[in-house]
Amino acid sequence: MSNSPDYGSMIESLRQSFASGLTRPLDWRRGQLYALERMLKENEPAISKALVADLAKPEQEVLLGELSLLYAEIRHAQRNLKRWSRARRVFTPMVGQPGRSWVQPEPLGVVLIMGAWNYPVQLVLSPLIPALAAGNCAVIKPSEIAAHTADLMAELIPRYLDSAAVQVVLGAVDETTELLKQRFDHVFYTGGATVGRIVMRAAAEHLTPVTLELGGKSPAVIDSDADLDSAARRLVWGKCLNAGQTCIAPDYVLVQPEQREPLIQAMQQQLEAMYGPDRLASGDYAKIINRRHFDRLRAYLAAGKVVVGGRLDEARERIEPTVLVDVQADDPVMQEEVFGPILPVLTVSGMDEAVAFIRAREKPLAAYLFTKSKQSERRFVDEVSTGNLCINDVLMFMSVPELPFGGVGNSGMGQYHGKAGFDRLSHLKAVMKRSRFPELPVRFAPYSDFKMKLLRWLG
Ligand code: NAD
Repeated sequence: MSNSPDYGSMIESLRQSFASGLTRPLDWRRGQLYALERMLKENEPAISKALVADLAKPEQEVLLGELSLLYAEIRHAQRNLKRWSRARRVFTPMVGQPGRSWVQPEPLGVVLIMGAWNYPVQLVLSPLIPALAAGNCAVIKPSEIAAHTADLMAELIPRYLDSAAVQVVLGAVDETTELLKQRFDHVFYTGGATVGRIVMRAAAEHLTPVTLELGGKSPAVIDSDADLDSAARRLVWGKCLNAGQTCIAPDYVLVQPEQREPLIQAMQQQLEAMYGPDRLASGDYAKIINRRHFDRLRAYLAAGKVVVGGRLDEARERIEPTVLVDVQADDPVMQEEVFGPILPVLTVSGMDEAVAFIRAREKPLAAYLFTKSKQSERRFVDEVSTGNLCINDVLMFMSVPELPFGGVGNSGMGQYHGKAGFDRLSHLKAVMKRSRFPELPVRFAPYSDFKMKLLRWLG
């Protein structure tokens, strides 16, 4: 762990480790992944405790939203490491014959990983898994806003992982600004778009590639034939998980006028079933991270009309799951990502208007459609540009390691999870090997009509 701003020498020593070949052998990579798994397994109670201190995160949500995703990613990487890292043969056309061509993944070097506060374990360790699997060194910068978890990461990581290859830096804006002046081989950032721009600007100084895992307003569309009970149950779950502080939580709902009341009633019932009559007192419901975000969310309640919830507990920084109707598209709650347990429900005349509404805005990180219609499903998949898309559920694509995860446009750039993460944090080096004989003289001068014809024929 390092708290001093002498980041230059820390990165220099990581660079030396990388140059020495320490991270190259697959056995070393496997060993680090195994150590990471052991770190999580042996410290589940301490991790839960830190997440309770930061977010009052229920234990089951710690497993669901943080640990089980990491265990699955580690296992998937362990299983596929050999296949991902070996040469990938590609077809060599006639002009290149006799010869062989392949793509050779190689590690990049030193990767900076910056995480956000809402899933403060998962968001720094999920990128660390492909960083290590691909044979890189890494600097981890957890979010200072989830301070207990950041401290715990800084304590645990040096105890389990090879400090010659992985370092943790703690700090807020000043420290991060200093850190970003250093040259990295990749910067992997998760957080909001404003800081995303700062990160990208700093990386541009060194022509360092970036992955930006940002957020946005993820819409949920209820088609006219949707199963409302199932939609309500899944929407409530996805919106209440971590008190709505989830980058892919359904941000708002688009529904046709005749389904609005039945959907709201169904959501009310689901809230009752999941969190009981006093949602603010439920131990299964997280708190808002801090006072600043609590006040930001409270201000959203000024728009439209509260039809479900709306109660606040200022002292404990809790906001009841709340449904808003009659909000306008230019109200702040529809202009910014909600990132909390407030769900505006807007009416649209049908799929045409729903798709047009989404397309008129920035591309979201996730989009959801509840429908029984194959036609609506096809249309949504074809016409809605979004990082991730889920039909008849929310969030669940996160459980499929083979599905790349990441945004598009304003919701981010670059994808990870599974092989996508390995490839993202590797350089895919193109290699061609020619046989020395026989030589086809067609490409060499002197040029001639015959050679020209032959070249065309060879394609
Ligand atoms: P945050 O405040 O924790 O910031 C993220 C990181 O940026 C932290 O490490 C922080 O130290 C650093 N940082 C903050 N200000 C900085 C500055 N001025 N200069 C340099 N570094 C700075 O997180 P946040 O921005 O509040 O995150 C919330 C956003 O993240 C939401 O929009 C959410 O949707 C998005 N998010 C996206 C994903 C994803 O996987 N795509 C996951 C979680 C959150």
